[in-house]
Amino acid sequence: MSWVTVIWPMIASACLTLAAIYWLVWYRHRASWAPLFLALAAASTTAFTFCELSWLRAETPDDFVTAMRWAHVPMFVWLVSIAWFVRDYLHAGRRWLAWAICGLCAFSLLLTLLTPQNLNYRELPRLGQVQLLGESFTVAEAAPTPWMLVGQSAAVMLLIFVADAGVTVWRRGDRRKALMVGGSIAFFLLAALGLSIAVLWGQLQVPLVFSVLNLGVVAVLAYQLSGDPLRAVPLVRELQVSEAGLRESEARLSLAVDAGDLGIWIWDVARHEIWGSDRWRALFAFAPSEHLNVHEVLDRLHPDDREALRQTRAMAVAASQGGRYQAEYRVILPDGSTRWLSSLARVEVDRTGQPVLMRGTARDVTARKHAEQETQLLQQQIAHAGRVSLMGQLASALAHEISQPLGAILRNAEAAGLYLQHPSPDLDELREIIADIKKDDERASQVIAHMRALLRRHALDMRRLDVGALVRDVVALVRADAATRQVTLDVDVPGDLQHVRGDWVHLQQVLLNLILNGMDALDGARMEDRRVSVTARLEDARLVAIAVRDGGPGVPADLLPQIFDPFFTTKPNGMGMGLPISRTIIEAHGGRLWAEGRNGGGAAFRFTLPIAEETAG
Ligand code: ADP
Repeated sequence: MSWVTVIWPMIASACLTLAAIYWLVWYRHRASWAPLFLALAAASTTAFTFCELSWLRAETPDDFVTAMRWAHVPMFVWLVSIAWFVRDYLHAGRRWLAWAICGLCAFSLLLTLLTPQNLNYRELPRLGQVQLLGESFTVAEAAPTPWMLVGQSAAVMLLIFVADAGVTVWRRGDRRKALMVGGSIAFFLLAALGLSIAVLWGQLQVPLVFSVLNLGVVAVLAYQLSGDPLRAVPLVRELQVSEAGLRESEARLSLAVDAGDLGIWIWDVARHEIWGSDRWRALFAFAPSEHLNVHEVLDRLHPDDREALRQTRAMAVAASQGGRYQAEYRVILPDGSTRWLSSLARVEVDRTGQPVLMRGTARDVTARKHAEQETQLLQQQIAHAGRVSLMGQLASALAHEISQPLGAILRNAEAAGLYLQHPSPDLDELREIIADIKKDDERASQVIAHMRALLRRHALDMRRLDVGALVRDVVALVRADAATRQVTLDVDVPGDLQHVRGDWVHLQQVLLNLILNGMDALDGARMEDRRVSVTARLEDARLVAIAVRDGGPGVPADLLPQIFDPFFTTKPNGMGMGLPISRTIIEAHGGRLWAEGRNGGGAAFRFTLPIAEETAG
């Protein structure tokens, strides 16, 4: 049996099998067009093989030419399929060139099928026989027509197209693909072109055999395409691992969400839709299956909180904080009750900076909010009560302070009266007396003003303060009391000490508390120990430290942790509010107040205050 009749049908059936396989691959997934183009190229190779076998075995010139004419149909399909395979599989190659190839191939096909003229030879060829590997093949002996160049230039264009696509892929870094696809097609095309030019232009007397070359291209492309699933195996494994990781992190997330009692929500801004977890819906008192739009949710917000929440969101988007924001707001539930929620959210924006999606969590903080409000109220009441009680202790000192200028005023007035009885009173002397009366009067009203401020003021009025003046002012207030209790007051504040930033009246209250506590601690102490000293020093570049020390028994170590607790007192008539109020005031100033043990007895209470900036008023 002739080997030709075995090999050619084998090529045909191999290509047909490939065509069937790749058609199925494409049909089942349709993820890419490449398998379909490969199936078409393989099927057209099958058809071409039969045409080729016909002309290789042709007995008349008519048979030879007819077989060649019909071979143009599968060749057209093959060229077009290969061009689009390359574009789809490599994602490279110029689209217009691909269309130009299609156009030129179609033109060549139409010329062949529609004109009676033979596109390959000027006239009906004479047939000859050539011997190859023991077989004889029919070949044509005739001059080719220039029309043949149309078909050949389509092949040349395909060569250029493939080379261009191959270079693009090579540059992209996928060298293997560039070589396998671009290189193999270019190689087989060059071989086919060389053979057709040599044979058809009468240079070489060998049989025209293209099907083997077509099969070569199809086989290489099929090999490349079949490798993709294999290469995908590690990816699939990676995907499985990451899926398992994802499940694990989902489980952890849901645990965290449960533990934090968090409701989760996602707001699709474009569609005005909100998705919320069951917990979140429960927080807003929405039914689990209820379809929600954003207006229904906004309606539940407390009217006073809507604008603040909108502004917080807008600021988060504008102020490059990655769109994150935190907010606390109230929701009014259908039964009229109010619930406080705390939200942590993130806003995603599009290219124009407009919010497109928001995600967040919500937590019920009603209990904490109520506790905070109660504590605040209590603190205000305590602070007020503290001031009132302090006033009781200060009453005698203030009475002395006021009686002193009042006495001076009286004495000056009496002196002025005496001067006026004189027939020619010394007017300069009288003016001085009146100026003294005015000064004493101002001092008395200052004392009264301080007393009223202590009783009334709640908010801090932060100003630039001279620590020395502040300390001296307080010491002046308690001096009379100290004298009665036989306590010496020492003040040591450097004249060039930096000014601090604080509220004069509140800081006075702190110093009064500490000095009066120090004097209380001296009850029953020996004469030489009866001293309370107030010193101020620069602590560091930012802070000034003020210390109030006394020569009393000190604070027992076991009581140290408790003395700042509200209502803790060891005195029969004490309230236990002086130290906690003082600490609150100092912390509100950005400082710290603490007690220290002292070697050699006595107690030391120290507090820090931030230094005022030079320009601050
Ligand atoms: P009160 O003076 O009404 O007791 P405070 O809060 O001012 O309230 O003080 C709380 C407690 O701290 C005092 O009862 C006392 O036991 C202790 N304490 C305060 N200052 C001194 C001090 N200088 N020396 C010893 N103990 C002190």
